[in-house]
Amino acid sequence: MATQAAPTLEDFRQEVRTWLEANCPASIRNKPRGMDTSFWGGRNPVYPSDDHKLWFERMAERAWTVPTWPAQYGGGGLDAAQGRVLKQEMARLGAPEPLSSLGIMMLGPALLKFGTEEQKLEHIPLIAQGKIRWAQGYSEPGAGSDLASLTTRGEDKGDHFLVNGQKIWTTYGHKADMIFTLVRTEPDAPKHQGISFLLIDMAQDGVNASPIRMISGNEHFSQTFFDDAVVPMANVVGERGKGWDVAKYLLTFERSMMGESIGGAAGKTLAESALEMLGKDGLAREPGLRGEVTEIMMETWGIQIASERLFDQGKAGQVSPFSPNVLKLLGTELATRRTRAMMSLGGFDNLAVDGRDAYEWLQAPPNCIAGGSNEVQMNVISKRALELPEHK
Ligand SMILES: Cc1cc2nc3c(=O)[nH]c(=O)nc-3n(C[C@H](O)[C@H](O)[C@H](O)COP(=O)(O)OP(=O)(O)OC[C@H]3O[C@@H](n4cnc5c(N)ncnc54)[C@H](O)[C@@H]3O)c2cc1C
Repeated sequence: MATQAAPTLEDFRQEVRTWLEANCPASIRNKPRGMDTSFWGGRNPVYPSDDHKLWFERMAERAWTVPTWPAQYGGGGLDAAQGRVLKQEMARLGAPEPLSSLGIMMLGPALLKFGTEEQKLEHIPLIAQGKIRWAQGYSEPGAGSDLASLTTRGEDKGDHFLVNGQKIWTTYGHKADMIFTLVRTEPDAPKHQGISFLLIDMAQDGVNASPIRMISGNEHFSQTFFDDAVVPMANVVGERGKGWDVAKYLLTFERSMMGESIGGAAGKTLAESALEMLGKDGLAREPGLRGEVTEIMMETWGIQIASERLFDQGKAGQVSPFSPNVLKLLGTELATRRTRAMMSLGGFDNLAVDGRDAYEWLQAPPNCIAGGSNEVQMNVISKRALELPEHK
């Protein structure tokens, strides 16, 4: 009897392509990515549209909200190569992320590495199914770049910590259900060693997130106050007092994600937009702009190739610990230039109506600050990766 050949990656690609075609509603394909077109999950979910809800439910049923996370915690169980195929096929179809979530982008990977079995079983499936919306509570009014100077404190009360202090720039803290946060629990230890990584429910007494209104009128951030908030000892991720290790590990995901998704943005390229907006003849009359478009396109490809290489290095266990810093720095700087060029192409028209270009243009500079400012990334790269002498 002839034995059946094991399915190849190409077979998997065909299967995924067919499934996506059949299950991703046409109305949500190729839409600009933004806060209003994304689904963020949570206890009180708000879907951008009925079709997005359907899309999310279908993807969540296959656990393809987190395709490469382990199946025993509610993940899709795909290997890295299959995960990449799924991503490529979604991009090809213009399918949106079914679920945008700091739980997926940041907390999940840290929990999978540092969490206890109980913590994984409790939180990972809820992240995968979009049931809990997470926020990140790192920065404080006196501790941004110098994060380890944070002063939010947790007093040991036996079976729980009593947490007091303030966080700031908490992205959508006022909409989140839970927050992963850095708290000083060992006041006498050196500053990097006295911090614990705590999971805190935002619905409890003693936690209050008040939105910060920006000049645009938007409220993307909150200040988050802890006033005698009770946090069970079981909510410490990793070892008590060693939260800095968890925090740093989590930041590598945040930074890689920012570098990849921003620098190598999918969708219409700058060259395609330039041709569409100015026409071939118009663009031919603008040598400066042509040069800029070419440079940005080449650098975008460079970042995409670098990301592919990092993926392969990661598989081979040879990835540099500084690659997230480099990727974040290059990706966010490039996004700033790319979106500025896009705005010059469209002129005033680009400020109007659907606002996609304007949204990305306004979002790019803040991303040079979020996840640790680019000046700080340069310090890390020069000092630790290149071992250059410090500025005196
Ligand atoms: C869009 C966005 C989203 C964010 N979301 C979150 C969130 O969800 N949760 C959270 O905890 N935080 C969040 N942050 C906060 C972010 O992490 C901090 O803003 C960032 O780490 C910088 O800290 P800071 O604002 O206190 O600036 P500071 O540390 O005061 O820095 C001010 C300026 O000085 C420069 N600088 C500081 N130190 C050095 C140095 N040693 N060498 C050279 N230059 C230096 C910085 O580059 C910066 O330009 C977000 C920020 C932004 C912009």
